[in-house]
Amino acid sequence: MNGYLTRPLLQQPFAARRYCSVETALNGPFVAAALVAALILAAGCQSTRQNSTSNEAMYPPARTKESQAAMSPQAALAELRAGNARFVAGQLQVRDFPAKVRATASGQYPFAVILSCLDSRQPIEIVFDQGIGDVFSARVAGNVLNDDILGSMEFACKASGAKLIAVVGHSHCGAIKGAVDGVQLGSLTGLLAKIKPAIAQVPATSQQPSSKNDEFVQNVAEANVRLVRQQIRERSPVLREMIDQGKIALAGGMYDLSTGEIRFFPN
Ligand SMILES: [Zn+2]
Repeated sequence: MNGYLTRPLLQQPFAARRYCSVETALNGPFVAAALVAALILAAGCQSTRQNSTSNEAMYPPARTKESQAAMSPQAALAELRAGNARFVAGQLQVRDFPAKVRATASGQYPFAVILSCLDSRQPIEIVFDQGIGDVFSARVAGNVLNDDILGSMEFACKASGAKLIAVVGHSHCGAIKGAVDGVQLGSLTGLLAKIKPAIAQVPATSQQPSSKNDEFVQNVAEANVRLVRQQIRERSPVLREMIDQGKIALAGGMYDLSTGEIRFFPN
């Protein structure tokens, strides 16, 4: 009963307005005004479509099985370098994240797997200007290696087709400082123990090894990246074979907290 009464009341004003509008437009000078309005509207729609098209062309396309397969390990490293250069220059690519979510829902074809530190100042996709579906990201304090991360790298490269493993440390790393100072704290103690071999590789500078010695901390952080690269080769026959066959590359680098720049070590 309520529905029967409500529907005509709602419909009536729209129907009346529509009828009135058509009658007015067909009478006298309003025809010209209506035509101009229609042209403006059409131009607006056209302009919106053009903007939409140009925006889509501007967005980086979703990675596909084909584009991933066509990428060489050297091109993958070049893309990370280029992405970081865009980040440092403040020229990040424009991204349509909802569109990327839809485009990647049925599969992923990332070109690299990156091991980096937990540090909040080094969000790895952002500093490499990468988006959804572009890179696998493993993050742990001090970018240390363990079996689960190694297994994740094997998944990324052997099962999922990534072309590059990048280990990225950073300046003023709290985990490195903690290891240098011999911090002991719950489960963190075991994590920091993984950095000790890197400390042993760095000769002490003029100052005593301590977290207050910036040069020493930086040298340990770099040694730690090199050590993790070595461990990846030694501990994973799967990845070592892919590296030796040139199917993937293994890069190491350092992120500078003060500049945002990532410097890769020469191979
Ligand atoms: Zn760190």
